[in-house]
Amino acid sequence: MRKLLVANRGEIALRIIRSARALGIATVAVYSDADAGATYLAAADDAIRIGAPEAAASYLNSDAILAAARAAGVDAIHPGYGFLSERPQFARAVAESGFTFVGPPAAAMATLGNKVAARRLAVQSGVPVVPGLDVADPTAARRLGAAVGYPLLVKAAAGGGGRGMRVVKAERELDGALEAAAREAQAAFGDGRLFLEKYLARSRHIEVQVIGDQFGKLVTLGERDCSIQRRHQKIIEESPAPGLDAAMRTQMAEAAIRLFRAAGYVNAGTAEFLVDGDSFYFLEANTRLQVEHPVTEMRFGCDLVAEQLRIADGEALADPPTPAGHAIECRIYAEDAERGFHPVAGRVEYLNLPAGPGIRIDTHLATGLEISTWYDGMVAKLIAWGADRAQARTRLLGALAEFSLLGVGHTAAFLYDIIASKPFGDIDLSTHFIDEFFTGWRPAETDLETALIGCLLAADAATNVDRTTPSRAPAESRSPWERLPRFEPWGGR
Ligand code: ADP
Repeated sequence: MRKLLVANRGEIALRIIRSARALGIATVAVYSDADAGATYLAAADDAIRIGAPEAAASYLNSDAILAAARAAGVDAIHPGYGFLSERPQFARAVAESGFTFVGPPAAAMATLGNKVAARRLAVQSGVPVVPGLDVADPTAARRLGAAVGYPLLVKAAAGGGGRGMRVVKAERELDGALEAAAREAQAAFGDGRLFLEKYLARSRHIEVQVIGDQFGKLVTLGERDCSIQRRHQKIIEESPAPGLDAAMRTQMAEAAIRLFRAAGYVNAGTAEFLVDGDSFYFLEANTRLQVEHPVTEMRFGCDLVAEQLRIADGEALADPPTPAGHAIECRIYAEDAERGFHPVAGRVEYLNLPAGPGIRIDTHLATGLEISTWYDGMVAKLIAWGADRAQARTRLLGALAEFSLLGVGHTAAFLYDIIASKPFGDIDLSTHFIDEFFTGWRPAETDLETALIGCLLAADAATNVDRTTPSRAPAESRSPWERLPRFEPWGGR
């Protein structure tokens, strides 16, 4: 492999470009019109425009991506996560066009990527699944409800990103939920097929990292606890899963290997489980690099992207390194944390990224970067490693306090409060953590940004510059300098 096209954007594009470069592989980035000024483009050897801002016209446009790959003369394509990364048709098209796909074979992806097919294979492989049904037949669903009790969860076979799920609290809600979920799944995934599971009301999400080469070697690299979620989407992840029973850890790793072996899997993937008391159940498989892979890398001292590239290039996988310590990641989103966590756009006016022992930040943020709302709003992943969970937690809190971004709303203060909280410290983890402990969360009045604005105001007052008249129309003004009258660090209250 001499030249790689990265079919993605943002932090993960930059992350992959860096690993490829370290292996001496040249890189080609792609971009939509919304990303024409993005920082990850400068990190690549070449950058090719693939279309309009709409994902369907650019990052989901496999024809445009394959055309870019041909024009650039690459050998391989890495899909990152999201976008085309879990589409077997894309993996197949890449291979048929003569490029190496950095990921699993299309057939393994198709089996594990469909939740119902993966569930069946798990049962055949002796892997426990959540009590449920492969089909959403109303009569069978009623029998299931009577047998295992409500609530039930209706899910889309093609689902992803927490979409297409509906909790059914009682039998009378069943028909309506099935109809609505089928409609929603059809609209979101072009596939209305559903299945049903018992709803495990207070469980933990724990997943196993799997990686295998083309010669049949398949290993696990520990597990990650991803229980802290918002709208069924992970926001804080850690490795190892704290307090997990040693026997269950071993059983989950063995189950993951059995399932991925049965699927004929090659390259990096993840087996997700729900842990409810003394039992664990297979949830779904992700046939790609996970957003939260850095916690595994920090613990094992490895580079999963480099391993992916080597495996795709036909190299044999070495034995995994011995893990050490504990790592915690949190995802920072461009959102208005004060008003319902809505995605926000804006220009990065000021940026301070944390550093220090055990700190890693995966981001494409840079001063002057325009952040749009065209794509997923995650703008940075902040990761801390420590000799134990307490040290990783303290380091992550320090890094979050040091993180400063002006010009775009973000969720760092929310993450700080969660990680600093007693239930997080006490490992009182479940997928309902946010609902249980953080509903109605509001940012504190005084935070770092306000303090910084205070310093700027003080300097301003000293030089007696009149900045009360914005130089641009208020609608286009995003600079904190031009919003100064809104901040009152020492006035009034
Ligand atoms: P997606 O692919 O849409 O992310 P998953 O099947 O991975 O869907 O589930 C995402 C999250 O939804 C889980 O981490 C968990 O919080 C919740 N969830 C899924 N299935 C169940 C279940 N049977 N009971 C309780 N919660 C569930």
